[in-house]
Amino acid sequence: MASEPCPSSCDVAVIGGSLAGAATAWLLLRDRPELRVVILERTVSHGRKVGEATVEVSAYFLTRVLGLNDHLQHHHLMKQGLRFWFADDQARTLADCSEIGGKFLSRVPSFQIDRAILDEEILARAAAAGATVQRGAVAQKVELRPGGRQTITVREGDEVRVLDARWVVDASGFASLLARQEGWHRANEDHPTCSAWARWRGVKDWDGLELARRHPAWAAAHQGLRGTATNHLMGRGWWAWMIPLRGGDTSVGVVFDERIVSWPAEGSIASRLKTFLCAHPAGRELLEDAEPIEADVHWRKHLAYRSTQVAGDGFVLVSDAAGFLDPFYSPGMDWLTFTVMRAKELILNAVDGDPPAAMIARYNDDFTASYDRWFDAIYRDKYEYLGDFELVRIAFLLDLGCYYLGVASQPYRRGEAGLMEPPFTTRPSIPVYRLMRWYNRRLAVLARARHARGGGRSMNRGQRLLIPGFTFAPSSARPLLGALARWFLLELRERWGT
Ligand SMILES: Cc1cc2nc3c(=O)[nH]c(=O)nc-3n(C[C@H](O)[C@H](O)[C@H](O)COP(=O)(O)OP(=O)(O)OC[C@H]3O[C@@H](n4cnc5c(N)ncnc54)[C@H](O)[C@@H]3O)c2cc1C
Repeated sequence: MASEPCPSSCDVAVIGGSLAGAATAWLLLRDRPELRVVILERTVSHGRKVGEATVEVSAYFLTRVLGLNDHLQHHHLMKQGLRFWFADDQARTLADCSEIGGKFLSRVPSFQIDRAILDEEILARAAAAGATVQRGAVAQKVELRPGGRQTITVREGDEVRVLDARWVVDASGFASLLARQEGWHRANEDHPTCSAWARWRGVKDWDGLELARRHPAWAAAHQGLRGTATNHLMGRGWWAWMIPLRGGDTSVGVVFDERIVSWPAEGSIASRLKTFLCAHPAGRELLEDAEPIEADVHWRKHLAYRSTQVAGDGFVLVSDAAGFLDPFYSPGMDWLTFTVMRAKELILNAVDGDPPAAMIARYNDDFTASYDRWFDAIYRDKYEYLGDFELVRIAFLLDLGCYYLGVASQPYRRGEAGLMEPPFTTRPSIPVYRLMRWYNRRLAVLARARHARGGGRSMNRGQRLLIPGFTFAPSSARPLLGALARWFLLELRERWGT
């Protein structure tokens, strides 16, 4: 997409023209076509990036808020849920690995997306709605003036100029321009996670003839499609994803907790990634003929962080620019959805003349509380038990059951109003937050005790939990209740006091 001549002044300047920034601009212009919106995007074309698996909330956002179903069906893949593979020292092949996942196809839509294509599409739609898109434009500095006009220093090639705007939307992702500039950026020291990833060629077809002939009973145990799920390889302190992309490449990467995992010290990132993953029987079998695409190998430390302030009179931070938790369960684009929806509401209200102070305070309070509780409820110390089938089985049913019944069902029941309340910010969600924090903490304690005893992987071979799939019906609470019962029995068996 070519850049247009840039005005020196606008109503809203959006820093970052990827999914979050382009969607915010597009939604603002859909409601108020008269707004002058400028999008500053550093790259001249979007490359591939992580953030390829949607879950149910972000899929709702893409299909029913942005209206991109047609585009998604033509250029991306329908996702078939989550699938987890566990191994112990005796597991030799994929078929030996214990498995958790759906037995059939998923029942609520979600997608495996190629971000280079999706982000370009949304940016084009924002431009068609009236946004001025500046490619190759780097926002270097923002001078914030609460209640006044914000000034952005923009570099385009050798040229530096100034753009002023009443509102700035920081959608700069991991770069977190405003948070870093203003000293609001905080690494999440309680969650020292790192990731290495790449797009790969030659990953085996999970549902193809080769693996079915090699492992007929394994192939027959499942009646959907394993390959278009997000397949997870699981180990103590780490997990890896395999996400297929339309056209045949596969996104494969690992995330690990630095406190638990020693990442190989020698070799290129690509070779370390392959060596690490091939130590797992499922990784060995799926990746034996595969190689990472050379120019598309990445490494990132300190994945988790947040900004202590996410809005003020004249600016709002959305998506990764406001904070990032953990990619396990793919919550990134859900967080993106909630922040974008609320940022749009905040700016439109202010443009309409409502004093923004109350909404700004609510934006700061809600997203700070949501980040902290989301982290506490799901991710704190979770990597302790990720390699243990028996504990993950309980967590999977409880975490997903709570997500389906409490979070993902909301937009389907209440429309866009269900996207205005970030997780764990409403009164009815607080007891659920406490329950989740409690069982996740206990599972981590049990895992530590098992590890100290030299055990914990006794069910990692030969087990299969294949569920019919969650829906928003009350009957989906049944597996959740079953998992609670399993947890209490486990506590009795392994003594409450561990
Ligand atoms: C290892 C890993 C795996 C993940 N997996 C998933 C997943 O499966 N599902 C999921 O939902 N999420 C996932 N995420 C999170 C997901 O990648 C992000 O939440 C998502 O990409 C955020 O989109 P964004 O538009 O906010 O930011 P980005 O996609 O990072 O875009 C930021 C944009 O801002 C531009 N920019 C930056 N600085 C400037 C500047 N100064 N001036 C102008 N432009 C600028 C950049 O060029 C870029 O286009 C994962 C994250 C990680 C780290």
